Amino acid sequence: MRQQMENLKKLQQIEDHILELKATRDRLQKEEQLMTTEVTAIQTEVDRLHANLEDSSKGIRELRSVLAEGQERVVKSEKRLLEIRTVKEQMAVTREKETAKQANREVQEKIKEKENEIDRLKKEKEEREMVLEELQERVNNRHAEIAPQLADFEQTLGTKMSHRVSLLATLSPGVKRRYQILVEQRGGTAVVEARNSACMGCNMKLPPQFFNSLFLKQEIQCCPHCNRFLYIHGEEEKPASGA
Ligand SMILES: [Zn+2]
Repeated sequence: MRQQMENLKKLQQIEDHILELKATRDRLQKEEQLMTTEVTAIQTEVDRLHANLEDSSKGIRELRSVLAEGQERVVKSEKRLLEIRTVKEQMAVTREKETAKQANREVQEKIKEKENEIDRLKKEKEEREMVLEELQERVNNRHAEIAPQLADFEQTLGTKMSHRVSLLATLSPGVKRRYQILVEQRGGTAVVEARNSACMGCNMKLPPQFFNSLFLKQEIQCCPHCNRFLYIHGEEEKPASGA
């Protein structure tokens, strides 16, 4: 029974260590995820700005070709004015020319707006690209730190898990089943110390006779309240009175 109890204590230590390792691993994995999310968000912004720039550039090309056509119309009107004989015709062509000029001015205005828009987009894109570059560098450095740590965790976890399996195999089937159920139901803590007449798992007082019986270490005992396996430290003072 002593050996079983010792193995149960060792198992609990391994269990605690596994939980700790998993918690750290989860924290690092979460950090990796957050960094990826952050990078993706800025990358998406840069992509959006890039698409907007493409649209604006296409828009400005179209406007410039509209303007070229408009300027052509003005030139044609001017040529026709030189050949015109009647006043009526002259007035009509002049009106046409003025209308075309007015339309051109409007198109030029739009081109100017587009140019400003493109400048603004370019600047914004450059800024975001710089942020992205800095972030990417930071993420890469952090990733270089995290990756080997995670690999280590996996290795240590593997070792702990197999140690756990071999220790479990030393327990009698009943104790083993009980241990496994407790680990599952009690947040990973199945083996606890009894100290000052109380169970350190649930903090409930233990009956004096029961507490005293723990010192005999004759059989595996469980807390009457939370069912966890109880052990007692060698240096624990046996109460003078009690039973
Ligand atoms: Zn208890």
